[in-house]
Formats: sequence, C-alpha cells, structure tokens
Amino acid sequence: MRRNRFISRARHNADAETLAKLARRLSESGSRLEDQLWERRLLELLNDRLARGFDADIEAALDDLSRTNGRAYDDLADLAESCAESAVIEIDGKPHDALLVAAPLLAWSRYKVPTTTLAAGVVDNIGVQFAGHLAARGARIAVADYLFSIDQLPESLGEVYDLAHKLFACAAQGTRMKVDAKSLREPVSMLADTRYVLAAIVAPQGQALYHWQETGVDPDSKAAAVEAFCTQFANVLQPVLTGCRYRVLAPNAFHAALRLADRELREFSLEAALAYLKLTYDLGPSALQATIAAYEDKRIEEIRIGIGRAGDEDQVIEGVVWPLLGDDEEKAQEDIEAALRRLGVTRITAHAHRFPLEFCDDCGAPMFPNPAGHSVHAEAPEDADEQPAAPLH
Ligand SMILES: [Zn+2]
Repeated sequence: MRRNRFISRARHNADAETLAKLARRLSESGSRLEDQLWERRLLELLNDRLARGFDADIEAALDDLSRTNGRAYDDLADLAESCAESAVIEIDGKPHDALLVAAPLLAWSRYKVPTTTLAAGVVDNIGVQFAGHLAARGARIAVADYLFSIDQLPESLGEVYDLAHKLFACAAQGTRMKVDAKSLREPVSMLADTRYVLAAIVAPQGQALYHWQETGVDPDSKAAAVEAFCTQFANVLQPVLTGCRYRVLAPNAFHAALRLADRELREFSLEAALAYLKLTYDLGPSALQATIAAYEDKRIEEIRIGIGRAGDEDQVIEGVVWPLLGDDEEKAQEDIEAALRRLGVTRITAHAHRFPLEFCDDCGAPMFPNPAGHSVHAEAPEDADEQPAAPLH
C-alpha cells in the first residue's frame, strides 16, 4: 500500500510539473499555430486530471507558476477554468458544447439577504428567460433550483467541474437540477452581498451558444438581449428577494461572472451602507464622515472603510470591506474616495499607516478604522431608537 502511494504521489508531482512546463512554453509562444499546439496538449492533460478528480495537480502547478511566472500562471488559469466550466458532451450520439453559466446579482437588506431553494415555477421561468434572451435558438438549458451565496458555490476547480457536469446532464435530459440545500455551508451574513443562479447552456458542437452569435443576427444585439434578460430575471426573483434592494448583473461563464460580481459588490456595499445609515438612523451623507485605511496580513489584503458621524473621531457606525482584487493600493484608495464623493460623503480621512487584518474575537466581524486612527468595532449610535446592528459584547 505504502509503496503504491509513493508511486502515485511521484506521478502527481510529475503531472503538476508537466502542466507548469507546458504553460511556460505557451506563455512564450509567438504565433497562433504554436499557441494551439501547446493549448491542445494542456487541455488534454487538464481534462484528464479533472475527470479523475486529481485537480490538486492543477492547483499545485498554478501555485508554482504564481510565484515564478505571472504570464504562464494567467495562461494556465484561463485554460483550467475553461476546462472546469465547459465540456463537450454527447447527446443522442452527437457532440455538444456545454457551458456553466452564472447569473449574479447584488443585494442588500436590513434583515437578511436570502439563500434559498427556488420553487419549480421560478426555476422554469428563469429557464424561459435564458432561452428567450440569451441562448441560441434550439440550445438546451438547465437551471439549478437554488439562489446561492458566494460561500455556497463550488470553490476548487474539481468542485466546479463536478457541478457543471451535473447541470450538463440535466440539460441533456431536459430536467431542473435539484440542489441539496442541507449540503451547503451556512453563509456569512453581510449587509450587502452577491447571490447567484447557475445554469447550463448546451448547443451542438461548434454552433452558436448565445443568440447574438447566430448567423444573420447582429452581434451588437448583445447589449439589448442582456438588458432584456436582466429586467426579466429581476422580475422573476422579486418574490424571493422581499425586503431586499437588488441589482441584477450580466450573466456570463461561471468564473467570469464571479469576478465581475466581486468587483461590482465593492461600490454597491458602500451605497448599501449609506442607504442603511439614512434609513435606520436618518444620517444622510452630509452628516457622515468616512475613514479609509489599508489592512494587511503579510501583504496588503484589503482596504476597510469606517463610517461614522461627522465630527465624531471615535465611533464607527457601519463599515465596508473593499478587497483589492488585483488593484494596487493607491488605485483602490482613489476609487473609494471617488465613490464616496459620488455618494455625497465629502468628509474623508485616509490613514497612511497600515492596520493589522483584525476581526472581532466574539462575532468574527471585521474591525474598521476611525478618524482618530484606531481599529474599532462598528456599533449602533447610543441615542438610536432602533439598534439592529449593535453587538451584545
Ligand atoms: Zn463582534
């Protein structure tokens, strides 16, 4: 037994090394022809590893490249994500292209942004909107019957691959995908957050997946099609999102949609915090003061924004976390200041020193910077009639 494990471990390292090697050569390629050759070999190996549940090899190769070769890392990550979220499947003996798609939305609520099983009628209606506005004529659609939070979505490439293939099978059979809600993690509750509906679009191999790719259809009709989908999708979800304010984002392939939603959530969270302060404590933007500071843990992780009453140097009433997502710190600070000003907050303090990436020991909430230069727990104002967000510790 032990011997076998040694052999298989050595084999896995060899696979990770091969992946990294091929990705380095791809990143140096100077022609489309050479690209295609390296890509073919990489795709073959990636698909094989994913199908056998050995996605750890891929993660190991990515880990290596992230430290040694940024371009090769990007190339391999693109291909690996694509292999996890798409596939060629057989339906009635004919090859079909299948793509895992996510339809994201941003929502905030004074109570709780739901994650929930979607009723059959809602799932079918979402499928109708996918078919009517986004997918090419005759494409098959399957929709998963759950409104997911980011913590509940598949995380590793292998998990994405498994879920994608379940949805592809449902699309082939023309059924809804049932999600076992009990198997999902309990999401961390935030004032503003993203939610996702997952679907598969399946079309005969090499043919259009999306409506605006069909022969004879103007490719520029994409914008109107996506807008129509978003309007209808927002209507369909209305009964599910009672008590929430929300904005639907353009659907896209799984990984691209998640990246877009992560970026869009940052400014939306700021808007939500300001709307919440107005609604709950009648504090408008001109009565507020925002403090911006970078929080780090070995390297800069995120910018945090503490919001309190103008003139109060100590208390933070509400806070927003702004992850960098590849932006540099300076650019992020500028974006935040511009966003705050757009929202009407003009009293802004930016601390030059860095704070340790701290969370409350009791409730896990992030600590936020105050104008005096300390990292504090957000607290409801003492004179407030209503104290929905006040921690009891
Ligand atoms: Zn706490």
